[in-house]
Amino acid sequence: MKLKKVVTISGKIECKTGLCIKGSNSDLNIGGADSEVIKNPLTGEPYIPGSSIKGKMRSQLEKKYPIAPKKEGQPCGCGQKDCMICTVFGAHRNPNASCAPVRIIVRDAPLSKETLELLRNRDFEKGNFLELKGENSINRKSGTAEAPRFIERVPAGAKFDFKILIQIFEGDNEDKLVAFVEEGLAEIENSYLGGSGSRGYGEVEFTYEIK
Ligand SMILES: [Zn+2]
Repeated sequence: MKLKKVVTISGKIECKTGLCIKGSNSDLNIGGADSEVIKNPLTGEPYIPGSSIKGKMRSQLEKKYPIAPKKEGQPCGCGQKDCMICTVFGAHRNPNASCAPVRIIVRDAPLSKETLELLRNRDFEKGNFLELKGENSINRKSGTAEAPRFIERVPAGAKFDFKILIQIFEGDNEDKLVAFVEEGLAEIENSYLGGSGSRGYGEVEFTYEIK
């Protein structure tokens, strides 16, 4: 298949509420927050992994458009040419997909320059870029709060720069592919990014242009 062009969707992700995307080694930090945000190890700055954006778009769209019979709880791996999920995001564990190659590339999203400057001038409890939020569970009998846990999160108002590339191959319906990715972004806005969405975390808004 011949690559015809690459469409770029780029812009900002604004956190409307605190955002917590956990790092993989958050359990190893004794004495730190109970739950830590993923950060660039070189700079200590939080970022949103492209895999988190891609995964959330995919799972929301799969809820919206339930596809052919598949294993319960597994992403679609049908690999059919008319399956938008497999075409855009890749056929799950299917190396022989006829819809290949995967059309979408989602870059990691770093904090925007303006947010970095804003946060550098503020004193958060720990680190330079994050807030620590104490959360209690309520004892059902006594009604008192107990066992506070400390959750590290990116504060509301922070903005990240994101970039998504869509590879358009000969024979592809460009408008349909781009619209599907835009729909995925809208579905994230209707849901949340990261953890603890049911407790108010991770509300985001995308602003972008398409080139
Ligand atoms: Zn599929």
